[in-house]
Amino acid sequence: EGESLYLGLDFGTSGARFAIIDIVGTIQAEAKRNYPIYLNGESRDWARSWKETLFLLLEDIPLNLRKHIVSISIDGTSATTMIVDSDTGEPLWRPLLYNESCPDALPAVKSIAPPNHTVGYDPEVDSYPSWLVCQPYSHLLPSVVAPGTPIACLKEELRNKFGFQKQCVVCSGTTDSIAAFLAARATQPGKAVTSLGSTLAIKLLSNTRIEDSRFGVYSHRLDDKWLVGGASNTGGVVLRQIFTDDQLEKLSEQINPSQISLLDYYPLPKAGERFPIADPELAPRLLPRPENDVEYLHGILESIARIEAKGYGLLKELGATEVDQVFTAGGGAKNEKWTKIRERVLGLPVSRADQTEAAYGTALLAIKGDQQNIL
Ligand code: ADP
Repeated sequence: EGESLYLGLDFGTSGARFAIIDIVGTIQAEAKRNYPIYLNGESRDWARSWKETLFLLLEDIPLNLRKHIVSISIDGTSATTMIVDSDTGEPLWRPLLYNESCPDALPAVKSIAPPNHTVGYDPEVDSYPSWLVCQPYSHLLPSVVAPGTPIACLKEELRNKFGFQKQCVVCSGTTDSIAAFLAARATQPGKAVTSLGSTLAIKLLSNTRIEDSRFGVYSHRLDDKWLVGGASNTGGVVLRQIFTDDQLEKLSEQINPSQISLLDYYPLPKAGERFPIADPELAPRLLPRPENDVEYLHGILESIARIEAKGYGLLKELGATEVDQVFTAGGGAKNEKWTKIRERVLGLPVSRADQTEAAYGTALLAIKGDQQNIL
Protein backbone atom coordinates (compact mmCIF):
# COMPACT_ATOMS: atom_id res chain seq x y z
CA GLU A 1 0.00 0.00 0.00
CA GLY A 2 2.81 2.42 0.79
CA GLU A 3 2.97 5.05 3.49
CA SER A 4 0.68 8.01 4.01
CA LEU A 5 1.85 11.40 2.73
CA TYR A 6 0.77 14.94 3.62
CA LEU A 7 0.56 17.91 1.26
CA GLY A 8 1.11 21.51 2.34
CA LEU A 9 0.39 24.33 -0.09
CA ASP A 10 1.69 27.84 0.56
CA PHE A 11 0.10 30.74 -1.31
CA GLY A 12 2.48 33.57 -0.40
CA THR A 13 2.94 37.09 -1.72
CA SER A 14 5.15 36.38 -4.73
CA GLY A 15 4.36 32.78 -5.57
CA ALA A 16 3.11 29.43 -4.37
CA ARG A 17 4.90 26.30 -3.18
CA PHE A 18 4.09 22.81 -2.11
CA ALA A 19 5.81 20.45 0.28
CA ILE A 20 4.96 16.78 0.67
CA ILE A 21 6.09 15.13 3.89
CA ASP A 22 5.69 11.76 5.55
CA ILE A 23 4.48 11.18 9.09
CA VAL A 24 7.92 11.89 10.62
CA GLY A 25 8.28 15.13 8.66
CA THR A 26 10.75 14.04 5.99
CA ILE A 27 10.27 15.96 2.75
CA GLN A 28 9.33 13.70 -0.18
CA ALA A 29 8.85 16.42 -2.79
CA GLU A 30 8.63 20.19 -3.06
CA ALA A 31 8.31 22.79 -5.81
CA LYS A 32 7.57 26.45 -6.41
CA ARG A 33 5.66 28.41 -9.06
CA ASN A 34 5.38 32.14 -9.58
CA TYR A 35 1.93 33.59 -10.17
CA PRO A 36 1.15 34.21 -13.84
CA ILE A 37 -0.12 37.74 -14.38
CA TYR A 38 -3.71 38.03 -15.58
CA LEU A 39 -5.50 41.30 -15.86
CA ASN A 40 -9.14 42.06 -15.43
CA GLY A 41 -9.43 45.52 -16.92
CA GLU A 42 -6.97 47.64 -14.96
CA SER A 43 -6.51 45.32 -11.98
CA ARG A 44 -4.89 41.93 -11.44
CA ASP A 45 -7.16 38.91 -11.76
CA TRP A 46 -5.78 37.21 -8.65
CA ALA A 47 -8.42 34.50 -8.44
CA ARG A 48 -7.47 33.25 -11.88
CA SER A 49 -3.72 33.40 -11.09
CA TRP A 50 -4.16 31.47 -7.85
CA LYS A 51 -6.41 28.84 -9.39
CA GLU A 52 -4.10 28.24 -12.31
CA THR A 53 -1.06 28.11 -10.02
CA LEU A 54 -2.82 25.63 -7.77
CA PHE A 55 -3.52 23.26 -10.64
CA LEU A 56 -0.01 23.65 -12.06
CA LEU A 57 1.44 22.78 -8.65
CA LEU A 58 -0.81 19.73 -8.35
CA GLU A 59 0.46 18.59 -11.75
CA ASP A 60 4.03 19.14 -10.51
CA ILE A 61 3.50 16.50 -7.82
CA PRO A 62 5.11 13.23 -8.94
CA LEU A 63 2.36 10.82 -10.03
CA ASN A 64 3.60 8.00 -7.82
CA LEU A 65 3.21 10.19 -4.72
CA ARG A 66 -0.26 11.58 -5.42
CA LYS A 67 -2.16 8.43 -4.51
CA HIS A 68 -0.44 8.31 -1.11
CA ILE A 69 -1.55 11.80 -0.07
CA VAL A 70 -4.15 11.44 2.67
CA SER A 71 -4.46 15.04 3.80
CA ILE A 72 -3.99 18.53 2.32
CA SER A 73 -3.73 21.95 3.95
CA ILE A 74 -3.28 25.44 2.45
CA ASP A 75 -1.93 28.70 3.86
CA GLY A 76 -2.45 32.18 2.49
CA THR A 77 -1.55 35.80 3.15
CA SER A 78 -3.13 37.11 6.35
CA ALA A 79 -6.33 39.13 5.88
CA THR A 80 -6.72 38.33 2.19
CA THR A 81 -10.39 37.55 1.61
CA MET A 82 -12.48 36.23 -1.23
CA ILE A 83 -16.23 35.67 -1.44
CA VAL A 84 -17.27 32.60 -3.41
CA ASP A 85 -20.47 30.83 -4.39
CA SER A 86 -20.91 27.99 -1.88
CA ASP A 87 -22.29 25.64 -4.57
CA THR A 88 -19.83 26.20 -7.40
CA GLY A 89 -16.80 27.61 -5.55
CA GLU A 90 -16.62 30.36 -8.16
CA PRO A 91 -15.55 33.83 -6.97
CA LEU A 92 -18.43 36.31 -6.75
CA TRP A 93 -16.18 39.35 -6.56
CA ARG A 94 -12.47 40.07 -6.94
CA PRO A 95 -10.42 39.07 -3.86
CA LEU A 96 -9.44 41.80 -1.41
CA LEU A 97 -5.72 41.58 -0.74
CA TYR A 98 -3.91 41.70 2.61
CA ASN A 99 -2.29 45.05 1.76
CA GLU A 100 -5.41 46.83 0.44
CA SER A 101 -7.03 49.55 2.45
CA CYS A 102 -10.76 49.92 2.05
CA PRO A 103 -11.49 53.51 3.12
CA ASP A 104 -14.94 53.47 1.48
CA ALA A 105 -16.04 50.78 3.92
CA LEU A 106 -15.04 52.74 7.03
CA PRO A 107 -18.29 54.68 7.57
CA ALA A 108 -20.31 51.46 7.36
CA VAL A 109 -17.97 49.76 9.83
CA LYS A 110 -17.97 52.73 12.19
CA SER A 111 -21.75 52.79 12.20
CA ILE A 112 -21.96 49.28 13.71
CA ALA A 113 -18.63 48.64 15.53
CA PRO A 114 -17.81 49.97 19.03
CA PRO A 115 -14.99 52.58 19.11
CA ASN A 116 -11.45 51.15 18.78
CA HIS A 117 -12.71 47.66 18.11
CA THR A 118 -10.27 45.60 16.05
CA VAL A 119 -13.33 44.37 14.07
CA GLY A 120 -12.86 40.67 13.75
CA TYR A 121 -13.51 37.23 15.07
CA ASP A 122 -12.63 36.85 18.77
CA PRO A 123 -10.42 33.77 19.10
CA GLU A 124 -10.59 33.88 22.90
CA VAL A 125 -14.33 33.23 23.11
CA ASP A 126 -14.50 31.56 19.72
CA SER A 127 -17.19 33.72 18.19
CA TYR A 128 -17.92 36.85 16.21
CA PRO A 129 -18.87 39.85 18.36
CA SER A 130 -22.58 40.18 19.04
CA TRP A 131 -22.90 43.51 17.17
CA LEU A 132 -21.68 41.70 14.05
CA VAL A 133 -23.79 38.59 14.54
CA CYS A 134 -26.95 40.70 14.72
CA GLN A 135 -26.37 42.16 11.25
CA PRO A 136 -28.73 40.87 8.54
CA TYR A 137 -25.81 39.45 6.51
CA SER A 138 -24.17 37.60 9.40
CA HIS A 139 -25.11 34.19 7.96
CA LEU A 140 -22.58 34.94 5.20
CA LEU A 141 -19.66 35.18 7.64
CA PRO A 142 -17.38 32.18 7.29
CA SER A 143 -17.44 29.59 10.02
CA VAL A 144 -14.11 29.65 11.83
CA VAL A 145 -12.26 26.45 12.68
CA ALA A 146 -8.85 25.80 14.22
CA PRO A 147 -5.89 25.38 11.85
CA GLY A 148 -5.55 21.76 10.78
CA THR A 149 -9.24 20.86 11.04
CA PRO A 150 -10.59 18.47 8.37
CA ILE A 151 -13.16 20.34 6.27
CA ALA A 152 -14.09 18.24 3.25
CA CYS A 153 -12.96 15.66 0.73
CA LEU A 154 -11.90 16.47 -2.83
CA LYS A 155 -14.50 16.62 -5.60
CA GLU A 156 -14.66 13.36 -7.52
CA GLU A 157 -13.83 15.16 -10.76
CA LEU A 158 -10.60 16.59 -9.33
CA ARG A 159 -9.67 13.34 -7.64
CA ASN A 160 -9.90 11.50 -10.93
CA LYS A 161 -8.13 14.21 -12.89
CA PHE A 162 -5.08 14.30 -10.59
CA GLY A 163 -5.12 10.78 -9.20
CA PHE A 164 -5.79 11.53 -5.54
CA GLN A 165 -7.39 8.88 -3.35
CA LYS A 166 -11.00 8.99 -2.24
CA GLN A 167 -10.14 9.34 1.45
CA CYS A 168 -7.91 12.36 0.88
CA VAL A 169 -9.16 15.15 3.12
CA VAL A 170 -8.68 18.94 2.86
CA CYS A 171 -7.95 20.72 6.16
CA SER A 172 -8.05 24.34 7.25
CA GLY A 173 -4.73 26.16 7.02
CA THR A 174 -3.36 29.34 8.53
CA THR A 175 -1.50 32.48 7.47
CA ASP A 176 1.81 32.16 5.64
CA SER A 177 3.81 33.70 8.48
CA ILE A 178 2.25 31.43 11.11
CA ALA A 179 2.87 28.46 8.82
CA ALA A 180 6.54 29.50 8.68
CA PHE A 181 6.61 29.50 12.49
CA LEU A 182 5.03 26.04 12.60
CA ALA A 183 7.72 24.80 10.19
CA ALA A 184 10.36 25.33 12.89
CA ARG A 185 8.42 22.91 15.15
CA ALA A 186 8.70 25.23 18.14
CA THR A 187 5.81 23.44 19.78
CA GLN A 188 6.36 24.15 23.50
CA PRO A 189 5.56 27.41 25.33
CA GLY A 190 8.79 29.40 25.65
CA LYS A 191 10.09 28.32 22.24
CA ALA A 192 10.54 31.17 19.79
CA VAL A 193 11.48 31.88 16.21
CA THR A 194 13.43 35.00 15.26
CA SER A 195 13.24 35.84 11.59
CA LEU A 196 16.34 37.72 10.40
CA GLY A 197 15.26 38.79 6.94
CA SER A 198 14.97 42.32 5.62
CA THR A 199 13.46 43.11 9.00
CA LEU A 200 13.67 41.46 12.39
CA ALA A 201 10.50 39.67 13.51
CA ILE A 202 10.07 37.57 16.62
CA LYS A 203 7.39 35.03 17.41
CA LEU A 204 7.01 33.22 20.70
CA LEU A 205 4.69 30.43 21.81
CA SER A 206 3.01 31.59 25.01
CA ASN A 207 0.48 30.21 27.47
CA THR A 208 -0.98 33.69 27.78
CA ARG A 209 -2.47 36.07 25.25
CA ILE A 210 -0.97 39.58 25.06
CA GLU A 211 -1.89 42.58 22.94
CA ASP A 212 -0.43 46.09 22.80
CA SER A 213 -1.23 48.20 19.77
CA ARG A 214 1.47 50.78 20.67
CA PHE A 215 4.13 48.19 19.88
CA GLY A 216 2.13 46.32 17.25
CA VAL A 217 2.12 43.29 19.53
CA TYR A 218 -0.72 40.83 19.19
CA SER A 219 -1.45 37.15 19.66
CA HIS A 220 -2.76 34.48 17.35
CA ARG A 221 -4.49 31.48 18.86
CA LEU A 222 -2.75 28.14 18.32
CA ASP A 223 -4.94 25.45 19.87
CA ASP A 224 -4.73 26.09 23.63
CA LYS A 225 -1.72 28.43 23.34
CA TRP A 226 -0.94 31.81 21.83
CA LEU A 227 1.56 32.80 19.22
CA VAL A 228 2.73 36.26 20.25
CA GLY A 229 5.05 38.46 18.28
CA GLY A 230 6.39 41.77 17.22
CA ALA A 231 8.35 43.18 14.30
CA SER A 232 11.17 45.72 14.36
CA ASN A 233 12.31 47.82 11.43
CA THR A 234 15.92 46.85 12.06
CA GLY A 235 17.32 43.90 10.14
CA GLY A 236 19.10 42.75 7.03
CA VAL A 237 17.93 45.66 4.90
CA VAL A 238 20.32 47.91 6.87
CA LEU A 239 23.19 45.43 6.48
CA ARG A 240 22.54 45.40 2.75
CA GLN A 241 22.81 49.21 2.61
CA ILE A 242 26.36 48.95 3.94
CA PHE A 243 27.73 45.56 2.83
CA THR A 244 27.17 43.08 0.02
CA ASP A 245 26.14 39.57 1.06
CA ASP A 246 29.62 38.45 0.03
CA GLN A 247 31.27 41.03 2.29
CA LEU A 248 28.92 40.04 5.11
CA GLU A 249 30.15 36.49 4.87
CA LYS A 250 33.86 37.32 4.66
CA LEU A 251 33.81 39.96 7.41
CA SER A 252 31.71 37.75 9.68
CA GLU A 253 34.30 34.98 9.47
CA GLN A 254 36.80 37.29 11.19
CA ILE A 255 34.51 38.26 14.09
CA ASN A 256 35.30 36.88 17.53
CA PRO A 257 31.76 36.34 18.84
CA SER A 258 32.79 35.84 22.47
CA GLN A 259 34.21 39.35 22.55
CA ILE A 260 31.77 42.06 23.68
CA SER A 261 31.40 44.92 21.21
CA LEU A 262 31.27 48.33 22.84
CA LEU A 263 29.69 49.92 19.76
CA ASP A 264 26.09 50.83 20.45
CA TYR A 265 23.95 51.35 17.35
CA TYR A 266 20.30 51.33 16.43
CA PRO A 267 20.36 50.21 12.80
CA LEU A 268 17.26 51.38 10.89
CA PRO A 269 16.75 51.97 7.16
CA LYS A 270 15.02 55.27 7.98
CA ALA A 271 13.63 57.10 11.02
CA GLY A 272 10.84 55.33 12.87
CA GLU A 273 10.46 52.24 15.01
CA ARG A 274 7.51 50.40 16.54
CA PHE A 275 8.85 47.38 18.37
CA PRO A 276 10.50 47.06 20.87
CA ILE A 277 10.57 50.87 21.01
CA ALA A 278 7.39 52.64 19.94
CA ASP A 279 8.70 55.86 18.44
CA PRO A 280 7.72 56.90 14.91
CA GLU A 281 10.59 59.41 14.97
CA LEU A 282 13.38 57.20 16.31
CA ALA A 283 16.51 58.10 14.32
CA PRO A 284 18.84 55.43 12.90
CA ARG A 285 22.12 55.30 14.82
CA LEU A 286 25.08 53.80 12.92
CA LEU A 287 27.88 56.09 14.07
CA PRO A 288 30.70 56.30 14.99
CA ARG A 289 31.99 54.01 12.25
CA PRO A 290 35.32 52.43 13.20
CA GLU A 291 37.96 52.14 10.50
CA ASN A 292 37.95 48.40 10.71
CA ASP A 293 34.93 46.88 8.91
CA VAL A 294 35.06 43.68 10.96
CA GLU A 295 34.64 45.78 14.09
CA TYR A 296 31.87 47.80 12.45
CA LEU A 297 29.90 44.72 11.38
CA HIS A 298 30.46 43.16 14.82
CA GLY A 299 28.99 46.29 16.41
CA ILE A 300 25.97 46.27 14.09
CA LEU A 301 25.24 42.55 14.57
CA GLU A 302 25.58 42.88 18.32
CA SER A 303 23.32 45.95 18.35
CA ILE A 304 20.64 44.06 16.40
CA ALA A 305 21.02 41.19 18.88
CA ARG A 306 20.35 43.66 21.73
CA ILE A 307 17.19 44.84 19.95
CA GLU A 308 16.14 41.19 19.64
CA ALA A 309 16.79 40.67 23.36
CA LYS A 310 14.83 43.81 24.20
CA GLY A 311 11.99 42.46 22.05
CA TYR A 312 11.77 39.20 23.98
CA GLY A 313 12.08 41.19 27.20
CA LEU A 314 9.15 43.38 26.18
CA LEU A 315 6.96 40.35 25.39
CA LYS A 316 7.69 39.05 28.88
CA GLU A 317 6.89 42.44 30.44
CA LEU A 318 3.59 42.44 28.58
CA GLY A 319 2.77 39.10 30.18
CA ALA A 320 3.93 36.43 27.73
CA THR A 321 5.62 33.17 28.72
CA GLU A 322 9.38 33.73 29.13
CA VAL A 323 11.44 32.64 26.15
CA ASP A 324 13.82 29.70 26.74
CA GLN A 325 15.03 28.73 23.27
CA VAL A 326 15.30 30.58 19.97
CA PHE A 327 15.23 29.13 16.46
CA THR A 328 16.28 31.34 13.58
CA ALA A 329 14.87 31.79 10.09
CA GLY A 330 15.71 34.15 7.19
CA GLY A 331 18.90 35.24 5.49
CA GLY A 332 20.67 36.04 8.79
CA ALA A 333 20.16 32.49 10.10
CA LYS A 334 23.15 31.15 8.17
CA ASN A 335 25.55 33.52 9.95
CA GLU A 336 27.10 31.31 12.63
CA LYS A 337 29.09 34.13 14.22
CA TRP A 338 25.90 36.17 14.61
CA THR A 339 24.21 33.12 16.15
CA LYS A 340 27.04 32.95 18.73
CA ILE A 341 26.77 36.69 19.45
CA ARG A 342 23.02 36.32 19.91
CA GLU A 343 23.45 33.37 22.27
CA ARG A 344 25.69 35.52 24.45
CA VAL A 345 23.44 38.62 24.32
CA LEU A 346 20.18 36.68 24.80
CA GLY A 347 21.66 34.24 27.31
CA LEU A 348 19.75 31.44 25.60
CA PRO A 349 20.36 28.53 23.23
CA VAL A 350 20.04 29.84 19.66
CA SER A 351 20.07 27.67 16.55
CA ARG A 352 19.04 27.71 12.94
CA ALA A 353 15.58 26.25 12.33
CA ASP A 354 15.76 23.00 10.32
CA GLN A 355 12.71 23.96 8.28
CA THR A 356 11.43 27.45 7.62
CA GLU A 357 9.19 27.12 4.57
CA ALA A 358 5.54 27.96 5.13
CA ALA A 359 4.60 25.02 2.86
CA TYR A 360 6.36 22.69 5.33
CA GLY A 361 4.48 24.14 8.30
CA THR A 362 1.23 23.76 6.40
CA ALA A 363 2.04 20.13 5.62
CA LEU A 364 2.37 19.63 9.40
CA LEU A 365 -1.17 21.00 9.73
CA ALA A 366 -2.24 18.39 7.15
CA ILE A 367 -0.82 15.72 9.49
CA LYS A 368 -2.70 17.24 12.41
CA GLY A 369 -5.90 17.23 10.38
CA ASP A 370 -5.49 13.60 9.37
CA GLN A 371 -5.01 12.57 12.98
CA GLN A 372 -8.38 14.03 13.96
CA ASN A 373 -10.16 13.11 10.77
CA ILE A 374 -13.71 12.01 11.51
CA LEU A 375 -15.23 12.97 8.15
P1 ADP B 1 13.51 38.78 3.11
O1 ADP B 1 12.92 39.31 4.38
O2 ADP B 1 13.73 39.87 2.11
O3 ADP B 1 12.85 37.55 2.58
P2 ADP B 1 15.82 37.03 3.54
O4 ADP B 1 15.31 36.11 4.58
O5 ADP B 1 16.01 36.52 2.15
O6 ADP B 1 15.00 38.39 3.52
O7 ADP B 1 17.23 37.60 4.05
C1 ADP B 1 17.89 38.59 3.34
C2 ADP B 1 18.70 39.41 4.29
O8 ADP B 1 19.71 38.59 4.87
C3 ADP B 1 19.42 40.55 3.59
O9 ADP B 1 18.85 41.78 4.01
C4 ADP B 1 20.89 40.41 3.98
O10 ADP B 1 21.40 41.62 4.49
C5 ADP B 1 20.87 39.35 5.07
N1 ADP B 1 22.04 38.48 4.97
C6 ADP B 1 22.50 37.82 3.88
N2 ADP B 1 23.62 37.14 4.16
C7 ADP B 1 23.90 37.39 5.46
C8 ADP B 1 24.94 37.00 6.35
N3 ADP B 1 25.92 36.19 5.97
N4 ADP B 1 24.89 37.47 7.62
C9 ADP B 1 23.89 38.27 8.02
N5 ADP B 1 22.90 38.67 7.24
C10 ADP B 1 22.89 38.24 5.97
